[in-house]
Amino acid sequence: MARKTTIRNDDEEPDEPKRPTLGGDNAGAGNFEDPNQQRFDDELRPSKLEDVVGQIAVVERLKILLEATKKRKEPLGHLLLDGPPGLGKTTLATVIPRELGTELQITAGPSLGAPKDLLPYLTNASYGSVLLIDEIHRLPPTVEEFLYPAMEDFRIDITLGDGLNARTINMKLQPFTLIGATTRSGMLTAPLRDRFVNREHLDFYTTSELSTIITRNSNKLRTEIAPEAAHEIAIRSRGTPRKANNWLRWTRDFADARANGKITLEVARAALKMKGVDDAGLEEQDRRYLETIISVFSGGPAGVQAVGHTLNIPADTLEDEVEPFLLREGFIQRTPRGRMVTAKALAHLGVSQKSKSKTTKSNSDPPADQRELF
Ligand code: ADP
Repeated sequence: MARKTTIRNDDEEPDEPKRPTLGGDNAGAGNFEDPNQQRFDDELRPSKLEDVVGQIAVVERLKILLEATKKRKEPLGHLLLDGPPGLGKTTLATVIPRELGTELQITAGPSLGAPKDLLPYLTNASYGSVLLIDEIHRLPPTVEEFLYPAMEDFRIDITLGDGLNARTINMKLQPFTLIGATTRSGMLTAPLRDRFVNREHLDFYTTSELSTIITRNSNKLRTEIAPEAAHEIAIRSRGTPRKANNWLRWTRDFADARANGKITLEVARAALKMKGVDDAGLEEQDRRYLETIISVFSGGPAGVQAVGHTLNIPADTLEDEVEPFLLREGFIQRTPRGRMVTAKALAHLGVSQKSKSKTTKSNSDPPADQRELF
C-alpha cells in the first residue's frame, strides 16, 4: 500500500464528452468542467489532512478511518461526500489517497455515458487505490448498475455478443475505494447510497474559518493582506472556500492594478463592490433571483423551474449554487408550494411590504408556465 500518490483524471481521456461550463466566478459545479477554475482550485488545494481548515467533525472521523485502514492494511470503505459546490469534497477526496500513500483516479458522472467508459478506471484501480466519481448523482442507470458488483464484490460482469450468442464474463478487480462526491445526495438511488459504508455531509464554513483559508492562501500567492481585509472577504464569500479563493484572486489583481499590491480593507471593499458583491455576500445573480420572485411571482410561492425559466438559468444551477446560501441566510423559505422571499430579503433589497403588494396586484396572474409550483 505504501505507494506514491499518482493522480489521473479525465483530462487524459481524449474523447470525453464535456458539460457546458458555468460562469467563472460561480462557486459552483464549475470545478470539474471549467479548466481555469480547476487549475485555480488545484493550486490552492490543501495537500494534507492537517491543512484542511474547518469541517472538524468530518475530519476527525476521517482520521479514525484512515488510521484503522493503515493499521489493517485493508482498503478504506467506500465513502460518499455530499454538500454544496466548493466546500471541499474534491479536496478531501484528493487528501485521502495522499494520506494513505495510494493512487487516485478522478472522473465524473456526466463523463461516464456507458459501462465501457467506467471499465478502464475499474480495471486500472490497484489494491487500496481511490477512484473519485464527482457528480455521482448524474451517473446513467446502466453505469450505476455496472458499478454495484464492483463496489460490493470487487468484480464486474461483462456481456459479450448479443442475442443467443451473448455470454457474461466475470472479471475480478483489485479491492479499491470509491469516493462519490455529490451536491445532491437526495438524487442518489437507495441501492447506490446503501453501498457507501461511510457518508459525510460538508456544511458551510464560518467567517473565521474562511479568514484562515484566505490568509493562508494569500501567503501561498505571496500577497500581503490585512487581517481586516481577510475578514471582509470572508464575510462576503457565502460560507464557501472556493468563493473565498476566487475573491482573494480578484482582490489581489485589483490591488496590483489599482493600489500598491497590498490588500487593505479599502482595497478589498472597492474590489468586491466592482464585482457587484454586497455586504451580505449577495451577487448580481442572487439579487436577480430574489427580485424575480418578488416582481414576477409576488414574493412567492414560486417553483424553481418557473423562476429558472424567467431568469434563463437552469433550475439545477439555481438549486446548487444560488438557493443553498439564500436558504441558510434566511433570504428565502422553501415551502411545499415553492420558494418564498422573506422579510429579511425585502429589507435587504430595500423593497417595502407595501410596494411588494403593489407588485402583487399588477402581477397577480403570472403566465401559465410560470405558475408551476415546486
Ligand atoms: P468541491 O469539490 O466541494 O466543489 P473543492 O474541494 O474543489 O470543492 O474546493 C474548492 C477549493 O476550495 C479548493 O481548491 C480548496 O483550495 C478550497 N478548500 C475547500 N475546502 C477547504 C478546506 N477545508 N480548507 C482549505 N481550503 C479548502
